[in-house]
Amino acid sequence: MRPRPPLRLLFVLGTRPEVLKLGPVVRAARTDPAAFAVRVVSTGQHRDLLAAHLDYFGIALDQDLHAMRPDQDLAGLVARMVAGLDGLFARDRPDWVVVQGDTSTAFAATLSAAGWGVAVAHVEAGLRTGDLAAPFPEEANRRLIAAMARLHCAPTPAAADHLRAEGVAAERIVVTGNTALDALLHVRDAPARRGELCAPFGDLAGGRVLLVTGHRRENFGVGTQAVCAALVEALERWPDLAVVFPLHQNPQVRDPVRSALQRPVVAGRVVLCDPLDYPTFVALLGACWAVLTDSGGVQEEAPALGKPVLCTRDRTERPEGVAAGAVRLVGADPGRIVGALGDLCDPRVYAAMAVPRWLYGDGRAAWRVLAALRRCGAEPG
Ligand code: UDP
Repeated sequence: MRPRPPLRLLFVLGTRPEVLKLGPVVRAARTDPAAFAVRVVSTGQHRDLLAAHLDYFGIALDQDLHAMRPDQDLAGLVARMVAGLDGLFARDRPDWVVVQGDTSTAFAATLSAAGWGVAVAHVEAGLRTGDLAAPFPEEANRRLIAAMARLHCAPTPAAADHLRAEGVAAERIVVTGNTALDALLHVRDAPARRGELCAPFGDLAGGRVLLVTGHRRENFGVGTQAVCAALVEALERWPDLAVVFPLHQNPQVRDPVRSALQRPVVAGRVVLCDPLDYPTFVALLGACWAVLTDSGGVQEEAPALGKPVLCTRDRTERPEGVAAGAVRLVGADPGRIVGALGDLCDPRVYAAMAVPRWLYGDGRAAWRVLAALRRCGAEPG
């Protein structure tokens, strides 16, 4: 019998979480060239955030579509990405396009691939808030991708339930765990350099460090200002509290945070910095006291490292963290945020939240994604 040719996989990514969550799958697929021929294309959705993360996974891009323009609106971005990907798929049809999560990149790649009859595998499928407006456009992207994908890699049983409830055939769903935990396990097990990586952020051992991130569209404007007001109030109330806030490149986050937190009264205990490379961010996550964030990935990683998460949203597509007591939803509401920080000052409350919990995977999700792709093989167009 002739050996099967390698399955041609085209990974499409464009943002930081896509690199972090597809990186483990790309790396695992590349260890078996007889089974998989791998190519990686970036849409360039968030080009500035990608370079360090691509380097971390040793991924060289086969192509960059450079779809992002300054002040690009969503419709223009999606149109440019679909046009670029259409050109790509017209020339060359892989066996599978692999996308991750809920970004406009993942949606555009799925739409374009479906149009060319190319099968799509969706990593991190089935997350839902049930509210199209929160987060927008991510919740819409997730549902649209689910309607077109042929293989759905759900991180948790609850995510698989959502897909089944929407009519996805059970044999097209596989519960893999979240590849975020593969990446976390890898970086956590790398030679311990936490002290060295955290050194630029001051003496973290001397006080309680709150690590803050924020990038959701629904928190732009009023929400960001409310989070900053809460931080100022908390810093004034607790003199041993310090804040480290790596600022997303988006000026809608960057500018209001800078003007609110560079006030002399609190500035000495606030570090505002550019987005961090992944090992440094995880080192800080490991060293901090607690996390205030609207990030999806951080809601998965922080509980694994035993760090309490206050999530600046009113609902989450990752309810497992809330149910386990590792994550508390505080909205973008100064009263709730400061109240929750006050609760965390109680050692019993803190200890109950700060139990390490691997809620989203065991570090082997990438292998399960690849095993599912192998089982499916090359799908007819
Ligand atoms: N992250 C990072 N550097 C930073 C902030 C976050 O490497 O300065 C990582 C973090 O470990 C997490 C991911 O970026 O895995 C989250 O990205 P983001 O919050 O942008 O997206 P989301 O997870 O909400 O889709």
